Amino acid sequence: MRSSYQYIIQGAGASGLWLAYWLDQFGLLQNHHLLIAEGDLNKVNDRTWCFWTPIDEAEFPFVDKRWTSLRVQNANQVIDPYAYCHTRSQDFYGWVKNKLSQNPNIHWYKGYIEQAKASQEYVEVQTAEGKLQAQYFFRSGQLTDFQGPDAISLWQSFVGWRIRLDQGTWDTKSATLMDFSIPQAHATRFLYVLPIAENEGLVEVTQFHASPLTVAEGEEMLAEICKERGWKCSILEVECNAIPMSSVFNQTEKVTQSNARIIPIGVAAGALKPTTGYGFLAMRKHARELAIALKNKKPLPTIYRKRRFRFYDALLLHMLSSTPHRGKAIFERLFSRQPATRILKFLDEKTSIWEELRIFSSLQVSWFLKALVTYGKG
Ligand SMILES: Cc1cc2nc3c(=O)[nH]c(=O)nc-3n(C[C@H](O)[C@H](O)[C@H](O)COP(=O)(O)OP(=O)(O)OC[C@H]3O[C@@H](n4cnc5c(N)ncnc54)[C@H](O)[C@@H]3O)c2cc1C
Repeated sequence: MRSSYQYIIQGAGASGLWLAYWLDQFGLLQNHHLLIAEGDLNKVNDRTWCFWTPIDEAEFPFVDKRWTSLRVQNANQVIDPYAYCHTRSQDFYGWVKNKLSQNPNIHWYKGYIEQAKASQEYVEVQTAEGKLQAQYFFRSGQLTDFQGPDAISLWQSFVGWRIRLDQGTWDTKSATLMDFSIPQAHATRFLYVLPIAENEGLVEVTQFHASPLTVAEGEEMLAEICKERGWKCSILEVECNAIPMSSVFNQTEKVTQSNARIIPIGVAAGALKPTTGYGFLAMRKHARELAIALKNKKPLPTIYRKRRFRFYDALLLHMLSSTPHRGKAIFERLFSRQPATRILKFLDEKTSIWEELRIFSSLQVSWFLKALVTYGKG
């Protein structure tokens, strides 16, 4: 193994691989070496990613299913110009790694980075096998790697089954995103039904609450749902995890300090929208912008989100923490009074203030005003 690199990336997850991909695409690895260090040696198909984007099949060849309409409040809504996309992490990891394998300047280290310390000239990176040097060190990892689970007061947790129907078929044209017709149990709970094929799909219960769902709780709910809906099925895979709903990694500056050599990426850089947990596309965008800035020797961008969107998120998080039972009524009202396309645009933080006022005026205004008062006191 070399001891000196231009770039070291900690973590071969979504953000680390997107960054390696763009460094390679922009020609930054023609004369420079990159090391990607990954500590989890069993990382294969550890998650499913969904995201919405204007339809462009060529840009996302690893996507295995796209829906152009969503089922919301028992009705199908076309979401033009978007498609809601589904990908298995193993397909994304495989696609990027295949691209990277063609560049001899990309190196892999299977093990954990123990420490990284920046000086004026370089970053010193400590591994079990010794010290390495890099000009830039990009650090990914989960929030709990940096802050500990106690820093988080609200979790988005989910338990999903990838199932095959033994009888009957699904309509594969629409995906169901937030179906609140399941018992709430003093939390905010909803169901996703993503039909990948007529007889195969992902059924997932999601909960917003201070304590994450256990696998046993989730599987009990899924068994009940399948029974009620008459889905006789075989379980192919179980997915269970929890995403912190927290603003702790929100960035308030648009660029990193000019002499910064240790740069956070992914969750650690605030890529996840705190109220939804979506972040896959934000990581792709940030990685691309980082590569462009490095190529042009410009200040390195952060994942900056406009102040008003940070505030909306903080207020909703406060409401979901202090009055979790209200989540169902808020989201049902939102989806019944606003077109799904506008909601997706809002969640992408691309709406105008005028559009946002239309969205807010359709919600329970008095609840939000009360929450504003208690939020201010907190
Ligand atoms: C189960 C699940 C489902 C999700 N679904 C969606 C979704 O549908 N849509 C969406 O937009 N977002 C989703 N997310 C949120 C987000 O997109 C993912 O969490 C994403 O994988 C985060 O990417 P990351 O690179 O920040 O972290 P990770 O993908 O977790 O990658 C970090 C990597 O760094 C490694 N690492 C950490 N510390 C070290 C160290 N010291 N040395 C070496 N390696 C280290 C870890 O082993 C890991 O592989 C989901 C998250 C989870 C957990």
